[in-house]
Amino acid sequence: MPHIFCIANQKGGVGKTTTTVNLAAGLAQIGQRVLIIDLDPQGNATMGSGVDKRTLAHTVYDVLLEHTAIAEARVRSPKGGYDVLGANRELSGAEIELVNLERRDRRLKTAIEAAAADYDFVLIDCPPSLSLLTLNGLTCAHGVIVPMQCEYFALEGLTDLVNTVKQVHANLNRELQLIGLLRVMFDPRITLQQQVSEQLKGHFGDKVFDTVIPRNVRLAEAPSYGVPGVVFDPASKGAQAFVAFAQEVVQRVTGGLRSAA
Ligand code: ADP
Ligand code: MG
Repeated sequence: MPHIFCIANQKGGVGKTTTTVNLAAGLAQIGQRVLIIDLDPQGNATMGSGVDKRTLAHTVYDVLLEHTAIAEARVRSPKGGYDVLGANRELSGAEIELVNLERRDRRLKTAIEAAAADYDFVLIDCPPSLSLLTLNGLTCAHGVIVPMQCEYFALEGLTDLVNTVKQVHANLNRELQLIGLLRVMFDPRITLQQQVSEQLKGHFGDKVFDTVIPRNVRLAEAPSYGVPGVVFDPASKGAQAFVAFAQEVVQRVTGGLRSAA
């Protein structure tokens, strides 16, 4: 089985999609076979990978409703070096349609199992909510990666997310664990960010990834070109940080992450 990670945080605009596409591109650069599953109806991970969400023949919506398999619905990111199971607005309807269906929280898991041999990593970009879509993601994942900004209310929001992960672990998916917290859009000149960062390490210890992603304008510019920042400007500080993050993730995985529940 590939390592299946949800990139989740119930807040919007915290860097989930940026983390998903750049981690995917970083992993691809070090020889890993990667699939991104876009679980957000906004389709930002799809577009940010250079895949036009408006012209997709099949999306994750068709996979959730079991109309099609991942092998048929996936497309290649032209520059990213990984595959994408895309999303668009259609997906917002799946939420309602899924409610009345059997195995509604497990459909993604079954679909990934059928494509498991093709990938080393599956990265699921979650919407900013704890919806049935996010639950589908958490139910099939081995772990959750939480990108976060080191701001005043950051720790408060984390408590909710950590409790959700615990509940899913207890009731739906014994494999699920918090892999780590990734500090993103970090500006070391801001004292408050340093303080929150220290608090984070105090609370969560080695669950805080060593790699820190700086605030970097090249990362913000890249999506409008349909290219992950890692590929868009490899020399930029943001790109280099994400390549280092990909290496850290691989290290954690090979260092017995699965057994360290
Ligand atoms: P989410 O998926 O959580 O809603 P995004 O990844 O879309 O968040 O990021 C929100 C905005 O912040 C986007 O405009 C993105 O380009 C920008 N952004 C994300 N990470 C960085 C960073 N490290 N430096 C600068 N801008 C960033
Ligand atoms: Mg997003």
